[in-house]
Amino acid sequence: MPFINLFKTGILFSTAVSFALALYVSTRKNQSSHLFYFSGLMFATAVYGLSYFIELSMPSLELAVLLLQFEYCGLTFIPFFWFLLVHSYGLQEKHEKREKALHLIFIIPIIFIILVWTNSYHNLIYKRIYLLEGVPLTILKAERGILFLPLNLTLNLLSLAATFMMVIKLIKSRGRFKGQFTLMTVAALFPLSAHFLLLKKMIPYNLDVIPIAFAVTGLLTFWGMIRIQLFDLIPIAQDMVLNALEDGIIVVDLKSRIIESNQAARNRFFPGEERGIGKTIKEINPLLAKRINEIPNHGEFMLKTANKSTCIFKLTCSEIKHRSFGVMGHLYILRDNTEMRSYVNNLKQLATFDTLTGIFNRRQFLDIAPVELNRAEKKGRPFSLVLFDLDHFKLVNDSFGHDAGDLVLQQTSRLIGEHMRSGSLYARYGGEEFVVLIPEADGEQAVAIIERLRLALEKAIVVYGEKAIEITASFGISTYQFNKDLTLDDYLKQADEAMYAAKEQGRNSIVHHDTMKTIPIALTD
Ligand code: GH3
Ligand code: MG
Ligand code: MG
Repeated sequence: MPFINLFKTGILFSTAVSFALALYVSTRKNQSSHLFYFSGLMFATAVYGLSYFIELSMPSLELAVLLLQFEYCGLTFIPFFWFLLVHSYGLQEKHEKREKALHLIFIIPIIFIILVWTNSYHNLIYKRIYLLEGVPLTILKAERGILFLPLNLTLNLLSLAATFMMVIKLIKSRGRFKGQFTLMTVAALFPLSAHFLLLKKMIPYNLDVIPIAFAVTGLLTFWGMIRIQLFDLIPIAQDMVLNALEDGIIVVDLKSRIIESNQAARNRFFPGEERGIGKTIKEINPLLAKRINEIPNHGEFMLKTANKSTCIFKLTCSEIKHRSFGVMGHLYILRDNTEMRSYVNNLKQLATFDTLTGIFNRRQFLDIAPVELNRAEKKGRPFSLVLFDLDHFKLVNDSFGHDAGDLVLQQTSRLIGEHMRSGSLYARYGGEEFVVLIPEADGEQAVAIIERLRLALEKAIVVYGEKAIEITASFGISTYQFNKDLTLDDYLKQADEAMYAAKEQGRNSIVHHDTMKTIPIALTD
């Protein structure tokens, strides 16, 4: 009697454990196929165990047979779930289609169950069922029908196949699956041993210990699953990855309802909204919805974010396609491009303008000047090119310091701006040397314009602290010659030669390359 009570408790306890495991696993958020098979296996074990437990205390043969029929509803499914569970372990997603086809084998247990429930009409499974006499429990005995052996053989062969497959997987497996397969192989030993004990009639009254064995298998397998944290790791990792991204991610369905969003998107666009799931972007942030609508696939737009700063966002929109159902939604990636834009603008500024004086730099001048030259040549219009260099600038630096020199350069640039007519192109050519391109100016006109600049420089007094700095410059001019095919380089060279002539001839003067002589200052006031 104590053994029987212990056994009944064991069966009841196993049922409870199996059912709890089935319930726990089937309600997990991230359902992968092996979790489904595992819960199926545990549920089948629970049905088997419970029916068997009740069957053991049934007062009549009829009721016991009814319970036996329920028992089969669990029992027949066990090897199938076990087989699929083992099969699905370590399986890559690309094999999932093939795995779906495997579900067809569930037809077999369903046929078996139908045969068991209709046995009284055909006696194919059992010819006759009767109660075992002289035992303190309701134990059924049976004369086997012709399909009994094929049925049991199928179930046992499938269990064996699953175990065999697992051993193969164990041998082949690496990494995190190795431990898992070892544990599952150990777990599989329990039902196998139970079978062996039953076969050898080593258990009193040949009581069925299979439900207990499978509960143990379930527990061990479950422990293995937790150990590698298959349950929680994947969704948590996915969330972590999404939320660690600096880009805002929003996924919408075809009706523009939000399906997923990450932290970055929520912080910027949905303040105070929990993920915003189920709502449309328009409902939460109409301006963002409008901008997204305006942009076909990718592009930039400006928008005030939740913290009230205006940012430039780069939007990339991709369609989410399902193999069979086609386009099912859209993925929006919103990158804050504000900083990048400002870097680019700074770089552009640096590449174009001289940092000290704010006027064009040499590079920019050399980029633009040829365009002007071409235009003049095509139109047959004159132009003049001027190079000038501050006189004795080294002295300014030496006497007043480098900062004073800088100030002089800035003031000089300002004076050029003031004295050049619109359309002129001027730049800091390097050090204290400047270049000016005056369109529509022949030699004479250029001299007149430059003479005014020369005078302005001569008259200017740069005030540096308490000191007054006076400056002059020497100018060299070259003018477009219609009959010659000269390049910008040639004109620059000519202007340079003229400038050096001006230096040699006493500085603070203008030399035109045509004459190479200091121009008589007739234009002075
Ligand atoms: P010259 O009349 O023959 O042109 O004599 P100079 O002293 O002007 O000519 P030199 O080439 O000997 O000296 C040019 C000086 O300009 C030397 C250099 O230190 C100074 N310089 C170049 N770039 C800068 C700058 O950005 N700021 C300052 N403060 N000085 C500069
Ligand atoms: Mg100089
Ligand atoms: Mg110089």
